[in-house]
Amino acid sequence: MSRIMRFHIITIFPNMLDSYFAESIISRAVESKLIEIKTYALREYTKDKHRRVDGKPYGGGPGMVMWVDPIISCVDKIKKNLSRKKNLKIKIILFSPGGKQFTNTIAKNISKKYTDIIFICGRYEGIDSRVKKILKTEEWSVGPYVLTGGELPAMICVDTISRQVKGVLNDENSLEETRIASHEIYARPEIYEYNKKKYKVPKVLLGGNHKLIDEYRSKKQNKTASK
Ligand code: SAH
Repeated sequence: MSRIMRFHIITIFPNMLDSYFAESIISRAVESKLIEIKTYALREYTKDKHRRVDGKPYGGGPGMVMWVDPIISCVDKIKKNLSRKKNLKIKIILFSPGGKQFTNTIAKNISKKYTDIIFICGRYEGIDSRVKKILKTEEWSVGPYVLTGGELPAMICVDTISRQVKGVLNDENSLEETRIASHEIYARPEIYEYNKKKYKVPKVLLGGNHKLIDEYRSKKQNKTASK
């Protein structure tokens, strides 16, 4: 039997993530106990009486920096909650636009090696650098652009890694790396008319000759999916 993969997401906006995870393939995977997703509201772990989790940067500069203590307290709590489970393999990831580019290959490896992934979502200017040092986290970026927070990256990574967990996709063949995936895909109707122009499905796909179909698909292959 395959084991469950648990995701722990530390954020100041847990509601942002809940609606995405409550639908479609991800919610089915949660119901089937293939994955588990928990969000942790960072404000519950601050000692500040106004529940603040950030402050001005030392040395000046714009924006606010997320404090080290609430994040460390939250991670400690997560680890403590997990401590009774057997064969734990925990990985902690911090999101940063300057981090290592997240890829499908990373997703695949993570799904194989770990039982628990803790994602730390930044906001504002980012996270106090001591978090990275204390927790020895890896920093991941989801792309060469700057977002307002780590919540979208967390959704992207949970989604991509979950897809690699055995049983999450009903049809294992949907995993791009096990077949020839094409950018060009078609379903009904065979001919679609729009503004007096006809848009047809390529003939080769209608013929049922699988050798020719594979050749056609290789030509139109989705090169990025298997990287
Ligand atoms: N001034 C900061 C920007 C911080 S953006 C800098 O240039 O580093 C605020 C937070 O959003 C970050 O801490 C990170 O958690 C998240 N974030 C923004 N863009 C991201 C990206 N491309 N990949 C992953 N996380 C990102």
